[in-house]
Amino acid sequence: MTRNRLQAVRRALAAHHVDAFLVSENSHIRYLTGFTGSNAVCFVTPRRAVLITDGRYRSQAPAEVDGATVVIARQSLFAELSERHLVRPGMRVGVEEEHLSAASLRTLRRLLPRCSFPAMSPLIERMSAVKDASEIRRIKRAVEITDAVFAKVLIAIEPGLRELDLAAEISYWHRKYGADSEAFDPIVASGPRAALPHARATTKKIRVGEVVVLDFGCRYQGYNSDMTRVVALGRPSAEMQKIHGIVREAQQRAIDAIRPGMEARALDAVARTHIEKAGYGKFFVHSLGHGLGIHIHDSLRISSLSSELLHEHAVVTIEPGIYLPGKGGVRIEDDVLITRGGCSVLTRSPRDLIVL
Ligand code: ZN
Ligand code: ZN
Repeated sequence: MTRNRLQAVRRALAAHHVDAFLVSENSHIRYLTGFTGSNAVCFVTPRRAVLITDGRYRSQAPAEVDGATVVIARQSLFAELSERHLVRPGMRVGVEEEHLSAASLRTLRRLLPRCSFPAMSPLIERMSAVKDASEIRRIKRAVEITDAVFAKVLIAIEPGLRELDLAAEISYWHRKYGADSEAFDPIVASGPRAALPHARATTKKIRVGEVVVLDFGCRYQGYNSDMTRVVALGRPSAEMQKIHGIVREAQQRAIDAIRPGMEARALDAVARTHIEKAGYGKFFVHSLGHGLGIHIHDSLRISSLSSELLHEHAVVTIEPGIYLPGKGGVRIEDDVLITRGGCSVLTRSPRDLIVL
């Protein structure tokens, strides 16, 4: 599996006008080689691939890596590139500009003064946007775990509980159900705080009459899930019920409209137009969704500006929202696999405004 991916990278080097590619982002290294450690670089030329890591991974790396030669660094990872003559003078070595620190680039230039380090276009991001069967299985499992966690969270919510207590509950159950980790810090936003699209959980207590926005997900075998639901403690205000209905309909229309080959902005427009016509356009303050996979936010953005195409076998989130400052807000988010005929919604939790 990883062997094929490395071969695809090798074949792509010439088109990117580089002699080699230095992959430095951990999830990309895992995607290309299978290595799950936290300190490595992967150096790929048209003829070979080398994974350089440190002594802590002396036995783990050879057991995990497929398709690349493992090198255990005696000093810094980058120093091995010159010490072992992997990089020759004059080479153009593509780097992952968005994932390489300025300090690392400075070190590379000092160690290999006669080489150049052009930024590569997002090669791994593009490759990993379209999922194979084993990746889809892992994403489905991550989504299943998050659905199961939501059922547990519904049992736990009660008046007087702090947002942080709920976040802890989410973390606990994700681990208990077999996730590697959480995909991100859970968002738990209650009452007026629900108007903040990306609120962190705080010590605020949840009160009767408030809505709570819960946005959370996990990582399972390196693949992410991401879901948002809204729960009300006691009867929510008429306005919250109204905007929930609008958001839910906007999301459904977008899900019904998804087709492979469609421009991302056309899909964003389906949901946005519905919310605009309902009079809440200026309160839908973010894009409709994003790609999902080895990153919680893959490079694909489903925004009003994106001309990227939606590909079959990509996994995306569909997450419209309305946020009313000082009052509260609603977002509903599902994970969706794009299929030949449209899409398959992976998230199973009910989308209704759940009143507890
Ligand atoms: Zn989310
Ligand atoms: Zn999301």
